[in-house]
Amino acid sequence: MANAMVDDTRRIREDNPFEAMMSRFDRAAQLLDLDPDLYAVMRVPNREIKVYIPVRMDSGRIEVFEGFRVQHNFARGPAKGGIRYAPDVNIDEVRALAAWMTWKCAVVNVPFGGGKGGVICDPLQMSQGELERLTRRYAAELIDFIGPEKDVPAPDMNTNEQTMAWIMDTYSMHARHTVTAVVTGKPVDLGGSAGRREATGRGLLFVINEAIKRFGITPPQTRVVVQGSGNVGGIAARLLHESGYKVVAISDVHGGIYNPNGIDIPEALTHLQTTRSFEDFPGVESVSNEELLELECDVLVPAATENQIRSTNAERIKCKVLAEGANGPTTAAADAILHEAGVFVIPDILANAGGVTVSYFEWVQDRMGYFWREDVVNQRLQETMVASFNDLCRYADSHSVDTRTAAYMLAIDRVAYDTRMRGIYA
Ligand code: NAD
Repeated sequence: MANAMVDDTRRIREDNPFEAMMSRFDRAAQLLDLDPDLYAVMRVPNREIKVYIPVRMDSGRIEVFEGFRVQHNFARGPAKGGIRYAPDVNIDEVRALAAWMTWKCAVVNVPFGGGKGGVICDPLQMSQGELERLTRRYAAELIDFIGPEKDVPAPDMNTNEQTMAWIMDTYSMHARHTVTAVVTGKPVDLGGSAGRREATGRGLLFVINEAIKRFGITPPQTRVVVQGSGNVGGIAARLLHESGYKVVAISDVHGGIYNPNGIDIPEALTHLQTTRSFEDFPGVESVSNEELLELECDVLVPAATENQIRSTNAERIKCKVLAEGANGPTTAAADAILHEAGVFVIPDILANAGGVTVSYFEWVQDRMGYFWREDVVNQRLQETMVASFNDLCRYADSHSVDTRTAAYMLAIDRVAYDTRMRGIYA
């Protein structure tokens, strides 16, 4: 009984994304010998906002939803980060995600701080009208805190281009003129950037291309497993397939499909889109999400949600390269096990930074009022991702640390430098 309680506590702590973030932050800060004043300032968010959002439901009744926006750090520029709609969003998760945005922007060297938003709701049970009213009122509650120079939201789980268009419109109505740069991830016709929708998946492709060179293998020799088939997983799988990689498994929340000889990804994604499931897709075996993670492969891309690779399954992970498409898919307790097993980790704060990189490009284009061709966007994304990958590997080698620790050290070093130069207004 007592042991069960210890196990439960350990599990809850291992699953808490804020604790996962903080334990890595603390380790990196210690290795950097971070000044105690900087440590005290950087370990906490700058601001946390909680809002209650009344929404008139289709039934005619008012329902009140709870929402958050955490602005973690502004040292390098406006806060930047997505908004997540989900029934289980909580402040610890949003706080961790906001901090990860600070470190992510610093790793790819874009001039933003970190922020994140969340609303506790079940978007799958809500109509478009209800979602629009929820989004507009949430944006209205945050009106004093967001803006192109303050905090620039973007889509995350269960929010999309339409959500961003509603926020942009609500903000613009209050400002009395159109302000496209208040959000990124907008529809291209409303000030969005060409290539933004694919940017996170494309960024993953660029860093995976670099990582496999370290193992002397080419795309056709590389078996890839992808967990998740949404904006990140689905697009990464398609781009990897188009680049000649052998994608042997893919999943969604209900489970996955596996064929050791490779799956026709465009066909599988069309099947998913038309039938809303991978079930009955021909020529494959069904696998659960847990089994999928443990499949024999060269590159594993967890691109669904947090805490998928944990102390309880890490030693059964068989990939050479772990390319973290999702935020926080690996718990801090699993890091050491993967390191011991020689898995080359491309940490989330680099691997999925293609999205925020092109969000930065979108913000720049909105402010210039001049829009770039998609090939220009993709070229600049590639330059950023490859340079950041190489910076990270050099940093890891020169400090004799693993790539996860190196990513945190590099990011904290950059944010600490800017904080020190600005001075702490205390
Ligand atoms: P999405 O909603 O488009 O897709 C999520 C996918 O994961 C879906 O296929 C869903 O079925 C699956 N899924 C959800 N819960 C699951 C579970 N418990 N087990 C297995 N599969 C599950 O979301 P997305 O935008 O692709 O985001 C995925 C991850 O990537 C999140 O961690 C997000 O924070 C992160 N991320 C997204 C972006 C972006 O640009 N969209 C950028 C950086 C990081």
